[in-house]
Amino acid sequence: MHRPYKTRAGGCTVTVFVPYDCNNNCPFCVNKGEYADMTGFSLEKICESIEVMDKITPACDFVFTGGEPFANLDSLQIMLDKVPYTHHVYINTTLPVSKTTTEEDILAFTEKNKDKISCINVSRHMQHYVVESNDELLAKLPVPFRINCVLYQDYPVEGLIPFIERFKKIPGSNIQFRFDYTATTPENLYDSEHDKIVHDLNKIGRYTGLDGCRMRCGFHYDYHGMEMVYHKTLPYSCIVEEDPKDRITYNILYDILIKQTGEIHADWSDAVLKDVRLDIPAYRHVVFEPYDLHWIEKVE
Ligand code: SF4
Repeated sequence: MHRPYKTRAGGCTVTVFVPYDCNNNCPFCVNKGEYADMTGFSLEKICESIEVMDKITPACDFVFTGGEPFANLDSLQIMLDKVPYTHHVYINTTLPVSKTTTEEDILAFTEKNKDKISCINVSRHMQHYVVESNDELLAKLPVPFRINCVLYQDYPVEGLIPFIERFKKIPGSNIQFRFDYTATTPENLYDSEHDKIVHDLNKIGRYTGLDGCRMRCGFHYDYHGMEMVYHKTLPYSCIVEEDPKDRITYNILYDILIKQTGEIHADWSDAVLKDVRLDIPAYRHVVFEPYDLHWIEKVE
């Protein structure tokens, strides 16, 4: 029998994998393989699944990722139109500019949807894994944006300050540095002593605190007035735990995924759940708990 589901108040974050690819090949990408064969990908089925999740948790967060959400603005618009204004919407993108999608197209799209998009998370890495559009486009975006930078393996530490300075110049910038999440374990999630990235950032920024939950954490820094966070998260998003009050063992979900085919999954990998497909009738009866993300340390 399936264990009952539990999640945070408001519901799990729903991450939607758009049914079209990006033009990059980042070495840490775990999604690229899925885009190699697009058989069964369906915009229509994704939209149906967005409607299902909206009905169950009408105030959850939606994240659009890929692939590349901005590679097909017409399809992205169709999906966004299925997400009512009760949700926060985040878009993970490289902000690609091409002959078919110009800067003007991206600006017109973001302007049209600015009341719906809470933040655009723009991938920019110290090693040039992704084709980058002009930084000036960031300054023109009519919605909040954040730079996401994976500090992968032996990243060039001498490039950290120039990288940070590059974005500090752009009004509204903040940076989220990320550990390669495929290498995160419950043991190293909160370990700062042996974490090279924490040591490197401690030399550059002023540490202001740590927040976190069972699944992820963030080391916060101030760099001459710009906010930076070093984010670590586990490579799966379900935790199995017995509630000491009711003695029931729950599958505690942090992220739900709408895959490119429209299938809904309860986790990123099968590390915890043998069958990752979401039991939708069971999720309609999900038990809510307060979100366990909290400040663990704050430094004035
Ligand atoms: S841009 Fe994103 S989806 Fe594309 S290869 Fe890099 S990590 Fe993967």
